[in-house]
This record gives sequence, structure tokens and C-alpha cells, in this order.
Amino acid sequence: MLKGRMMDMPMMISSIIDYAADVRTDNVVVSNRVEGDIHRYTYGQARARAAQMAHALKELGVKEGERVATMAWNGYRHFELYFAISGIGAVCHTINPRLFADQIVYVTNHAEDKILFLDTSFIPIITPLVSQLPADMRFVLMCDRDAMPDCELPNPICYEDLISGQPDHIVWPVFDERAASSLCYTSGTTGNPKGVLYSHRSTYMHSMGMLTLAGSAGVTEGATVLPVVPLFHANAWGTPYVAPLVGANLVFPGGKLDGPSVFDLMDQEKVSSAWGVPTVWLGVLAEMRKRGRKPEGFECVLSGGSAVARSMIEEFQNDYGVTVVHGWGMTEMSPIGSTTIFGSTQKALPKDKQVDLKILQGRRMFTVDIRIVDEDGDPLPQDGEAFGELQVRGSGVIDGYHEDETASQAAMTADGWLKTGDVAKIDPEGFIQLVDRTKDVIKSGGEWISSIDLENAALGHPAIAECAVIAMPHPKWAERPMLVATLVEGQTVTASQINEFLADKVAKWWLPDDVIFVDTLPHTATGKLSKMTLRERFKDHVLPTVGQ
Ligand code: ADP
Repeated sequence: MLKGRMMDMPMMISSIIDYAADVRTDNVVVSNRVEGDIHRYTYGQARARAAQMAHALKELGVKEGERVATMAWNGYRHFELYFAISGIGAVCHTINPRLFADQIVYVTNHAEDKILFLDTSFIPIITPLVSQLPADMRFVLMCDRDAMPDCELPNPICYEDLISGQPDHIVWPVFDERAASSLCYTSGTTGNPKGVLYSHRSTYMHSMGMLTLAGSAGVTEGATVLPVVPLFHANAWGTPYVAPLVGANLVFPGGKLDGPSVFDLMDQEKVSSAWGVPTVWLGVLAEMRKRGRKPEGFECVLSGGSAVARSMIEEFQNDYGVTVVHGWGMTEMSPIGSTTIFGSTQKALPKDKQVDLKILQGRRMFTVDIRIVDEDGDPLPQDGEAFGELQVRGSGVIDGYHEDETASQAAMTADGWLKTGDVAKIDPEGFIQLVDRTKDVIKSGGEWISSIDLENAALGHPAIAECAVIAMPHPKWAERPMLVATLVEGQTVTASQINEFLADKVAKWWLPDDVIFVDTLPHTATGKLSKMTLRERFKDHVLPTVGQ
């Protein structure tokens, strides 16, 4: 090999905040604080406080590789911790407060967290668990000194006290880029949560990859970006790294994630690009309908985490002129895998054909390789017809889970690809179409029915607010689909009207054997519909078609 004559500079996360502080001097980070007011500062001020926190952590004895946990909403202190903890070579373990209590106990012990930084709103979650958390864990409350509550946590430290008096400058240490930087457990619908351990290199490379899609998702210089997706879920989809790099402002919503609150914050801060899961957009759209307008300046929404319905894309785009970009990914992928990136060919298509493409999961991001394979693991053609398990590899993709050999082996193929657990088609232009989760697909009489497609079609009915299609046992067909739905306020509809509506949208044998209306649908800790809970809830239900 003829070695290149270039510096071997390790890819450090700290270089991102340094770059933003030095160059993106016009931008601001705006936070809706738990204290109830709005806080704003520049990336330069963020770096100064991250530096103070880095010094404070070292003073507390935090060493390289040790885990420091956070349980916090999206806000400036959480953003500072992202850089302070990783910056000194420790590992920022973001805990999802929506995990069950025993999962929180599991992840803190599995990660061996030394310190827990928490928003005061999570004190009631943590207090009853203290005796089961790692021994000698220290608790830092992320609030002002005068907002420190009376609480039963042992010796709580105030965040502001911790950093006060520390130098606001640091020369970040440079170390092996493959060192772990952050840790995020997947919600684990079955079994224990699994730890996804990111490195400086993977985070840096994922951020570079995101630069290939950021522009098409409205994250450009001078844009104002709202990650509704939490910092405790898969790095808020990379927004805390990519926004500072491109020179976009960041708006953090704190704990107020309902439609009216998100609308107001967006309106007030003139958010141009907002990122989150479809459930959040249901709430925001309802508010837009109510007020008969969009939040001022709103241009683009990136919706990911679950399939986005055609009806949602059309309402955003046709009624309000808001572009929808659809993204797919996994915590295990840092997390972005693909987004609906359009070239001139797609942009030249008629509007409804563009929507046909936007309900697909999009094209791969730079740094991510994709393939689909059949049941024997042999690659399938990318012809838009063949479907099989979607597998990925790349510099932002896991090669196993943190300290979990069984889960690691189950997740990876012999040739080093990650099995996503998603079933997909890929068309010749590279658009991925998710057919289903391997565990959610409905196998009726030897044929497959895509629950995602069926849900998407049903969501086109104006009375349906949210819905899930699950497989129900059937003696003749093995499994048949059942639709469980919530209704838009004030609307009524019958099961047979839903089936009439679906009749010209899906194959006849796809029509659900039963339609059930419920008040609410269960969601997982990451905001996805929990089909496992639904299957459990309806395990004794008998389809009306059984015996026919
Ligand atoms: P969790 O912590 O719940 O596992 P992830 O975000 O890591 O959360 O979940 C990843 C899974 O979510 C994917 O494998 C896929 O099944 C589903 N998913 C993500 N984005 C989409 C999308 N755009 N359309 C359909 N499913 C999606």
C-alpha cells in the first residue's frame, strides 16, 4: 500500500461544537425550559458551558469510558451534556423516561452509570427506584439554583452549582476515534433493552452522512430546526450534530410535546424544519386545522420512526404548503438509514406521483449500504418487486450490542451486516419500500399482507385518526388482518363503511376481517404503535369470519 501523506486526525465529537462556536456565530439554541420560560444562547455560549461541565465532571472523578446518564427533555443543558460527557472521553447514556421502571433499573445497572443528570420532572420516576440503581450513583438536577425542589433523592446536586466557577474554556482531549461516546438502549418490546454503543467515529461519520440529506429536509444555513424527536431517543436523529455544522438554529421543546404547545413554539420561533414521529404531527396538524393556518415560517417536516400516511403528506403539502420528507432508520443505525431524497427526475413528476414516492421509506443516506435478502440470506434483486429482509452496514451501524453477546449474534449476519427486522422492496432508483416488520407481517393462506400498506390506506378515511392492523389467528387462512382504530373527534363510521372505503384501494383478500374502534391505541416508549400490546389485548377475540 502506498500510504497517503495526510494527517491522521481522529474524528472527535468535540470538533463539532468547536466548529459551531468558532464559525456559526449567528446561530442560536432556543429552549423551552422546564422552569417555564424560554432560554436562548449561541453555540459559543453552549461550548463555554460544555467546557465548564467537562471540568466539573473531571473534578467529580469521571474517567474515560465511564458512563454518565441523562434523563431529560430536549433543552440546552442536555445539549451541553452531549458534548461535555463525550468530549472528555466518557459515555453519555441517554435514558428514555418512558421505559418501564424495571427497564430503567436494568439499563442503569447494565450501563453501570456513575451519575444521573435529570430534569426535575423525572424526580417522581427516579425516587422510588433509588435503592435499585447502581450503588453510590450521584444525582444532578438540571435546573437553576432557585428552582431546586425539595426531594428525597440522596444529596442532589444543582447543575448550575456544579459548573459555576469552572473555567469556560477547554482544550478537548484527542483520543482514539473508535472510543465509545454515547449509549442508547432500544426500547426492547421483548426481552431486556439492548445497548447501542456509539463511538466518536460513528457519530462523526453519521453526521457527515446527514449532510447529504440535511438540505432536502430543510436543515440549511440560517434555517431553524425543531427536533421534537427526543435527545433520549437515538440522538434526536442526529439534529444536535448536524444543525450546528450547517449553521442552523436549534429549538428545543422541553417537555411540552402536545399539538397546541408545539404549534405555539414553532410559531413564536419561526421554526422552518421540524423533525419527529407521525403521532406528533397528528397533534400539530389537528392544531393547524383548528387555527386554519400553519405556524409562521414552517416549511418542512421530517417524519420518521413509523410509516407516514399518504393522507398526512397530502394535508401538509396541499393544504399548508409544508414539504414532507419521510425518513427511516433505527437506533442501531445512529439512527438514519434513508430519507425521501428527490433528484430532478422525481421533482419533475406530477404531485400525486411524488406523494407515491414519499410514502416509501426513501433512498439510502451516504455511509449506509443496503440490501434485501431471501430466507436463505441470498441477496434479492432491487427491482421494486422482490421483497425480503432489509440488511444494512455502514460506519454508523452497530456491529453488536453493548455487553450482550446473545443479542449481538442474533442481530448480525455471518458476513457482517445488521439484520434490521424489516421486510422491504428496493426499486431500481434505490427507493426502499418497507412492507412490514418481520414480526408484524400477516401471513394469510401462504400470501403476505402488509400491515403498513393497509394502515396507510385506512388512514385515508377522514374519520380515522390512528390505526393499527394486526394478525389474528384464523383456522382456514392461518392469519387474517384486523384493523383497530381511533376516530377523529366528533366523527363516526361503521366497520362496513371502512371496508367499502378500502375496497378500491387494496386487493379484496387484504380487506380486514374485523374493524374495531377504541379510545386510544397503545404506544411504545419511542412513540410507535405497540402491536405486541394490541395482540395481547385481543388475544381472546374471535374474528367474525371464523367458521364461515
Ligand atoms: P425502538 O427503540 O423502538 O427500536 P427505533 O427507532 O430504533 O426505535 O425503531 C426502528 C424501527 O422502526 C425500524 O426497524 C422500523 O421497523 C421502524 N421504522 C422506523 N422508521 C420507519 C418508517 N419511516 N416507516 C416504517 N417503519 C419505520
